[in-house]
Amino acid sequence: MFDRLKKAFSSMVKGLSEKEISEADVDRVFSEMELALLESDVAQETVAHLHDTLRKALVGKRFDKSRDTERIVKDTLKDIMLSIFSSAGSVDVIGRIKDKGKGKEPYIILFLGINGTGKTTTIAKFANMLRKHGISSVIVAGDTHRAGAIEQITEHANRLGVKVIAQRYGADPAAVGRDGVLYARAHRVDAVLIDTAGRMQTSKNLMDEMAKIVRVVKPDLKIFVGDSLAGNDTIMQAKEFQRYTDFNAIILTKSDSDYKGGSALSIVHVTNRPILYLGVGQGYDDLVEFNAREFVEQIVEGNSM
Ligand code: GDP
Repeated sequence: MFDRLKKAFSSMVKGLSEKEISEADVDRVFSEMELALLESDVAQETVAHLHDTLRKALVGKRFDKSRDTERIVKDTLKDIMLSIFSSAGSVDVIGRIKDKGKGKEPYIILFLGINGTGKTTTIAKFANMLRKHGISSVIVAGDTHRAGAIEQITEHANRLGVKVIAQRYGADPAAVGRDGVLYARAHRVDAVLIDTAGRMQTSKNLMDEMAKIVRVVKPDLKIFVGDSLAGNDTIMQAKEFQRYTDFNAIILTKSDSDYKGGSALSIVHVTNRPILYLGVGQGYDDLVEFNAREFVEQIVEGNSM
C-alpha cells in the first residue's frame, strides 16, 4: 500500500542527507519529487505546503555530525503531516450521539457527496457500525432525484433491519429529512442518517439544495463522502461542498483498492476537516476508523499496516 508515496518520501529524505541543508537542496528534491507526489494524489497546494514548511524547518540549520540527518528529515516530515491532521481536529461521533441522547434528542447526520463515491453504501456501513455501539438509527432517503436511489438505500436498510423514511421521487429532500427527524423523536431513535443527492451536472442547483437541507434539518454533523481513488476530482468536490455546506468531517471510501494515499493528506490539508473513517470494501463491516499517526508512520517510515 502507498508504495509510490513511500518511495517519494524516502527519496526526499535521501536527497536531504547533508549535514547542512540549503534552500537549493530542498528545491531540487521537490522538483524531482513533484511528479511522484502528484501521481500519488497529493494535491498541488499540499505539495507546495510541504515544500514551504520543510524549507522553513530545515534550511540553514547545522546538524551535528553525531546526529542522523535522515532521521531529522523524516521526523520533520512527520511533524508537518501530523500538524495538518491535528489542525483539522477530530470528532468523537459515538460520544456526541450518546451525549445528545441524554437529552432525548436524536443526533442528525447529513451525508454529502457526488454519486458513485459510495455514499449510499457508507450510510449502510455507518448504521451497522452504530448498532455495534448500541446506537439505533433511522435512514432518510434524501436523494429524491436519481432513479433507483430510494430503492437502493431501502434495500440496504432492509438487509440491516433499519427503518427507512422515504417519500416519492421529486419530493423536497428537506421535507423528507424533517420527516426522518420527527420519526426519530417520536420513536426514540438515537441517530438520523440522511442520504442526499449527488448529481454532477447541475452543480449550482445541487449545492442550493444541499444548503436548503442544512437550513431546514439543522444537522449536528455534516459528513462529506469522497472517493479516495478519484484524486484531484475528490479534492475539487470537497472544496465545492465545503463552500455551500461547511461540512465538519470526511469519510474516504474505496481505500482498499488502488489507493495511493495522497488524497487523505490533501483533502485534510485543503479543507482543514478531519477524516473520521475509511471505507475499505463493499461489505457492511468494511468501515474502519482513520488513524492519522499510523498513516503518517506508514508513508514516512515505510511501515506496512
Ligand atoms: P453512491 O452513488 O455514492 O451512493 O455509491 P454507492 O454506495 O452505490 O457505491 C458505488 C459502488 O462503490 C458500489 O459498487 C459499492 O459497492 C462500491 N463501494 C462503496 N464503498 C466502497 C469501498 O469502501 N470499497 C470498495 N471497494 N467499494 C466500495
